Amino acid sequence: MFVTRVLGDCPSCGANDAYGNVSVGAYVLRGCKRCDYEASVWLPEIRKKFIYLDQFFFSGAMRGKDPRFQAAAERVKRVCHLQLLVAPYSSVHEDEAQQWRGHLGMTNDQLVEFIKAAARGAEFEKDYAVEHAQVFKAWDAFLNGSARQVHI
Ligand SMILES: [Zn+2]
Repeated sequence: MFVTRVLGDCPSCGANDAYGNVSVGAYVLRGCKRCDYEASVWLPEIRKKFIYLDQFFFSGAMRGKDPRFQAAAERVKRVCHLQLLVAPYSSVHEDEAQQWRGHLGMTNDQLVEFIKAAARGAEFEKDYAVEHAQVFKAWDAFLNGSARQVHI
């Protein structure tokens, strides 16, 4: 097996520094370079929390004037790195970034790139897809007579 990280001696054949991690997916596959021994180590279930970081937060973090934003940004970055939190990118971020005036030569596009980097590839559904689903659910409820009456 192609061992990517050596953990020690093989528990089966005893070869020195031949046993270690082979691949990582839902579990870690471990194996030996010398023999066919392999073992699967199941990983704990991931329990990530989701957070929507709004334009106020990103603008504050980008400006760097308030140390609280920098501290919060560092904490978010660390917790995301530990796979405990995800701060997905939203199409709303892009709309809001267009209204940002920039700071110290930082442009709107750079702000969007910063937000995408913080999201690490995670993305909420596009705002128009959410609106589309909401309108169709409301229309179906209306057609089925299950829509609630709103009394003003
Ligand atoms: Zn072995």
